[in-house]
Amino acid sequence: MRIDIITVLPEMIEGFLNCSILKRAQDKGLAEICLHYLRDFTHDKHRRVDDYPYGGIAGMVMKIEPIENCINFLKSQREYDDIIFTTPDGEQFSQPMANELSLKKNLIILCGHFKGIDYRIREHLITREISIGDYVLTGGELAAAVMTDAIVRLLPGVISDEQSALSDSFQDNLLAPPVYTRPADYKGWKVPEVLLSGHEAKILEWNLNQAYERTKRLRPDLLK
Ligand code: SAH
Repeated sequence: MRIDIITVLPEMIEGFLNCSILKRAQDKGLAEICLHYLRDFTHDKHRRVDDYPYGGIAGMVMKIEPIENCINFLKSQREYDDIIFTTPDGEQFSQPMANELSLKKNLIILCGHFKGIDYRIREHLITREISIGDYVLTGGELAAAVMTDAIVRLLPGVISDEQSALSDSFQDNLLAPPVYTRPADYKGWKVPEVLLSGHEAKILEWNLNQAYERTKRLRPDLLK
């Protein structure tokens, strides 16, 4: 899978992409994640990518031309399944959406900045608008990083034990059961007996019960 991220602040995401599971996915050739610096796609002699908004409101708005140039450049290289814009008024990002996007081949994620982007880009170039939550960030870079991480960790082979991604919270609409590691007794804080029993069926049943009970208590909305 390939994800192209368009941004005015590539340095904000670069470090993030070169750590942990995202780095491993790229090293193994399972994901290709490319950053594109928007200022490289403007013909403006000062490389400006923003301008004053019509209507006299405060703040700056990202211009159409560099964004269209960048998207057209990418589209001339390959076909894209979706051209995503990160925006607080978009569809709410979720685990089912991460599952769905992880099945795509090529995605573009456009990060907004300043007051946002010229609305005509959203009308004519963007195919999907996604928010990572009901709060406003300074730019779409963190949102792109969050989505890329959630999507890429689902690709087969990225996490060594594939089952491990499937047993995480929100898969099957359940929160994950509690997990423990050694020692089995830390100053009297004990690991549940059943997990030490070696009895696979009982352990599975315990995990399912815990997942269900925790979901009922903490996120009853998921069970509806
Ligand atoms: N004026 C806009 C917010 C602009 S914030 C509004 O009120 O809706 C600048 C940029 O940050 C946005 O264009 C978007 O790309 C990104 N951003 C901010 N909050 C976000 C969120 N919750 N989810 C995804 N992207 C977000």
